[in-house]
Amino acid sequence: MKILVIGSGGREHALVWKLAQSPHAMQMWCAPGNAGIAQEHLVKNGSAVECVSINAEDLPKLLAFAQEKKVDFTVVGPDNPLALGIVDLFQKNGLKIWGVNRKAAQFESSKVFSQRFMEKYGIPTAAAETFNDVGAAKKFAASLGKCVVKADGLALGKGVLICTNAAEAEKAVDEIMVGKAFGAAGANVVIQEFLEGMEISLHALCDGKTAKLFPTSQDHKRALDGDNGLNTGGMGTYSPTPFLSDAQLADTATIILEPFMRGCVAEGIDYRGLLYPGIMLTKNGPKVLEFNARFGDPETQVYLTRLENDPVELLDASVNGTLDRIELKWKTATSVCVVMASGGYPGNYAKGKPILGLAEAAKLPDTKVFHAGTARAGDSIVTNGGRVLGVTALGKDLKAAQAAAYAAVEKIHFDGAHFRHDIAAKAL
Ligand code: AMP
Repeated sequence: MKILVIGSGGREHALVWKLAQSPHAMQMWCAPGNAGIAQEHLVKNGSAVECVSINAEDLPKLLAFAQEKKVDFTVVGPDNPLALGIVDLFQKNGLKIWGVNRKAAQFESSKVFSQRFMEKYGIPTAAAETFNDVGAAKKFAASLGKCVVKADGLALGKGVLICTNAAEAEKAVDEIMVGKAFGAAGANVVIQEFLEGMEISLHALCDGKTAKLFPTSQDHKRALDGDNGLNTGGMGTYSPTPFLSDAQLADTATIILEPFMRGCVAEGIDYRGLLYPGIMLTKNGPKVLEFNARFGDPETQVYLTRLENDPVELLDASVNGTLDRIELKWKTATSVCVVMASGGYPGNYAKGKPILGLAEAAKLPDTKVFHAGTARAGDSIVTNGGRVLGVTALGKDLKAAQAAAYAAVEKIHFDGAHFRHDIAAKAL
């Protein structure tokens, strides 16, 4: 099978790495990919994965490329091409593609849509109201005091402002709706009650009828140790977490996934792809903070290092509507991913810093260094983004996996490298 993966981050490196292990993979491309993806080889025939410099949002060029190369199966990593309708476009042209269609991508591209859907189908979430009027939004936000103000549309993960009092809440509404801090994404807002609890990530692979839940994982969103500093795309993950027993996880699937799939059918949404709900484990039970309509990054890195199924067969079943015939299989080992970022991230940062020690880290057992923001410059690999690497290791338990991941981090150096020292510490 000829496979094209779309995207360029750590999530896409993990997808390429796993797909390249499938005996079904005969030739692979990644658009645009990164320096680590370009080093992967197919297990079946040893051929190299080729990176092609087409932007993940350039739908016409991606379609033309897939047609020219007669790609059999395209796998989409990031949210933007999904929200732009890449799946609908490829399908219209008779090409097989994995990911949610444009209508289903609304769960991520519109927080107003998600909030209304959750309320209509009884999915537990924060109490909330949605607004397109500044005055009404401010009045409601001020009445809550401690609350969360969310821009409706996609805002690179930054459109969520947590407010601790009425003044901050009014200021947040002003920033989003009047100051247009997130552009058109902030024409409407959702204002939610502030939920307290432990935050975890869930992932479920869906095929329009069936949703197969993954084990739990936990991201670390803040830039600094102890959950301090600014929000980031994610500084590290581990899986599984100890916060839900198998029975509680099954209950969570019942109260979230069952109404979700039922609601999709009722609304004419053909949800085939990945559903990734962010969950707060509150004292009143699990509540959905948001829906994402694609794999998490860096959740993918810990999930795919634990997954035992053939990834091509799994994603193919998600497209074909045959997931009910497949049982997900996971290594019992724990996986930990520590993100190494550029100094200054999530603010401004320099690019082009040479990365040393990748070969030494690669020699460590049960360890995989996934690249995110990297590029090749002559003979060296250099930094090329905020999140640079996702250093991932398996261990017999959480402590062993954590020690192995940090042992690999120790081998790697680049000017200004920044990482958290406490990934998975909450669970120990
Ligand atoms: P979202 O993009 O909606 O997941 O929000 C980003 C982050 O803001 C989440 O990962 C949570 O840490 C936090 N957050 C979002 N909504 C709430 C809420 N209602 N209560 C408390 N924290 C929240």
